[in-house]
Amino acid sequence: MLQTIIDEIGAQMRGEEDRGKVADYIPELSCIDPRQFALSVCLASGEQFSTGDADQHFSMQSISKVFTLAIALGRLGEGLWRRVGREPSNSAFNSIVEVELSAGRPRNPFMNAGAILVTDAILAKGVPRHTLAELLHFIRAAAGDDSILINPVVAASEKATGDRNWALAHYLRSCGNLTNTVDLVLGTYFHQCAIELSCAQLARAGRFLAGIQSGPPLIAADNVRNINALMMTCGHYDGSGEFAFRVGIPAKSGVGGGILAVVPGAASIAVWSPGLNSFGNSKLGTQALELLSKRLGLSLFEPEPFRLPGVAAA
Ligand code: GLU
Repeated sequence: MLQTIIDEIGAQMRGEEDRGKVADYIPELSCIDPRQFALSVCLASGEQFSTGDADQHFSMQSISKVFTLAIALGRLGEGLWRRVGREPSNSAFNSIVEVELSAGRPRNPFMNAGAILVTDAILAKGVPRHTLAELLHFIRAAAGDDSILINPVVAASEKATGDRNWALAHYLRSCGNLTNTVDLVLGTYFHQCAIELSCAQLARAGRFLAGIQSGPPLIAADNVRNINALMMTCGHYDGSGEFAFRVGIPAKSGVGGGILAVVPGAASIAVWSPGLNSFGNSKLGTQALELLSKRLGLSLFEPEPFRLPGVAAA
């Protein structure tokens, strides 16, 4: 039944004419075929249902910020919030003015400035190679898949052209809120964003946030709750309110066209379609999640408790 529903959504998305605009400010991403679409759902039962190009690898981009935040909270705990806030923002994901207004303490860990800070925090005084190895280890453990890799060509492409991020990092450092050099932090940040995985792998990697991963928990329950709250309020940048309204579950987007969404206690969902809307979030990915949410009653704001089709209430 769930397979039928997601196949229907996939077929509908494949027929859409307006697919949004592929991110072209990172040259390596500008040549991705916008006709691709994938949706994958992991359930607490251990089952996984996928449709479309679910095994095609894509650039994780800002979805990586969820995983660096998980590592940072595990390591620094509450101390992290001295350096970065946890409030949504109505500025664009790469806003420069926002950092100045907040005196170098970015509003949240998902805007670029905040994510650069989190990367600085997990880099500590360390070596980027070790930090990236730790991040890959975490994502691979979450997905149960050791084949996930960084695409160095995408990282180099963003490093060469990501002037906004260089500006943000220099500003943070001028405020005394970046402990490593701009070079080290951004070298690490661009590589974390260039991690590639498939939609099916991403859905599996998100299970720890839904609390449905088998085996010992990867991070403390408090941190899961806090990350989900931030995904709900800030995961789609200045489009987060709209996403909560239309879909109603915690989710994090990336300019590679992926979205990781979480139904706490029930499901981890990944969607991928490379064309973006005006907020820099996957256009068809958002549409597909809205359809899925409405068909299954996934929104956390539904008055009725969520139940999977065909599964009796406990
Ligand atoms: N690497 C991208 C940037 O920093 C990530 C943005 C995103 O995925 O939203 O611009």
